[in-house]
Amino acid sequence: MVNVGILGATGMVGQRFIELLAEHPKFEITALTASQRSAGKKYEDATTWYLDSSMPESVKDITVVDTDPALVKDVDIVFSALPTENAAIVEPKFAEKFIVASNASAMRMEDDVPLVIPEVNPEYLDLIEIQQKNRGWDGFIVTNPNCSTIALTITLKPLHDQFDIKRVYVSTMQAVSGAGYNGVPSMAIVDNLVPFIGGEEEKMETETQHLLGNLEDGVVTPASFGVSASCHRVAVVDGHTEAVFIEMEDKCDMDEIHATMDQFRGLPQKLDLYSAPEKPIVIRPEDNRPQPRMDRNQEGGMAVTVGRLREDVAFENSFRYVLVGHNTIRGAAGASILNAELINEIM
Ligand code: NAP
Repeated sequence: MVNVGILGATGMVGQRFIELLAEHPKFEITALTASQRSAGKKYEDATTWYLDSSMPESVKDITVVDTDPALVKDVDIVFSALPTENAAIVEPKFAEKFIVASNASAMRMEDDVPLVIPEVNPEYLDLIEIQQKNRGWDGFIVTNPNCSTIALTITLKPLHDQFDIKRVYVSTMQAVSGAGYNGVPSMAIVDNLVPFIGGEEEKMETETQHLLGNLEDGVVTPASFGVSASCHRVAVVDGHTEAVFIEMEDKCDMDEIHATMDQFRGLPQKLDLYSAPEKPIVIRPEDNRPQPRMDRNQEGGMAVTVGRLREDVAFENSFRYVLVGHNTIRGAAGASILNAELINEIM
């Protein structure tokens, strides 16, 4: 077994890590960290558990420690679910000796830090060697993208490989859990919609291009097609919905587009990694799907569900669809775990 720690283990994403790792066949949770508010308490006492599943017995008695690498012992991998401002300071310190698989945005766009979705750009892991050399670390940092970017990019990957995308517009309807437990006050979101999520549109635009770019001679060149995002918070607990509009360079055949997305498989499927969904993209034929409550848990929350795939007759060479992805599983904890499983398998 590989011993793993979770940084920020008491939060929304931290709890998903616990839930997903409790029964993991290769990773065993041996260390949990959080802020000084929680340090010194047993996990059970430090945490208000938010998930539908019960808190796993195996973590209840673990003493939470402050997020300091000197206090984390006998661990090979740490999963980070820290707020970005803390991650920026602390993750590099952990990377001096540990593998850090991070959800936070702090290090994502550093030139020598791989931003990876295993089905999309596993080759970016080659940056690890450069990172260790540049920084003199024994460990390293690998990051996964923002939750709404992951779901979008998984659906764009087979289309980008097969056809020539000219531009992408995406309008999101994002769950409240995406902002953490204290993120959106109930008075702001019940009976309401908030048409702004700070920094989200920029992340969706730059991370999507970065993920679908090329790595050559240690440098990532982002994909050149335009991505335009409009991000909105809605009164859904879990599961981000996105309306996607794509314009191609040439006329598109809808049957071919459907087949390309449906048949898409990546390296995690080839390697049969434990957390890999059998199908990264599940296409629903019904007019009223996907819906977050009904589709977010597809393949344990690791698949992206696509529906309403149709030609866009208003514009030339265009089509559109709606997707749902689980933001704290495929969009966060599950994404980091899949990155770590891939690293564990191939490195
Ligand atoms: P959260 O619910 O607010 O949890 C934050 C965690 O960090 C808690 O464990 C908290 O511990 C700990 N923490 C807070 N301040 C700290 C400090 N100064 N030093 C050490 N630990 C500290 O946040 P979240 O939603 O889980 O998000 C965690 C990270 O994942 C963020 O970077 C976020 O952007 C990213 N992310 C979130 C989602 C999502 O859907 N929620 C998706 C993708 C990425 P205490 O309990 O002790 O305060």
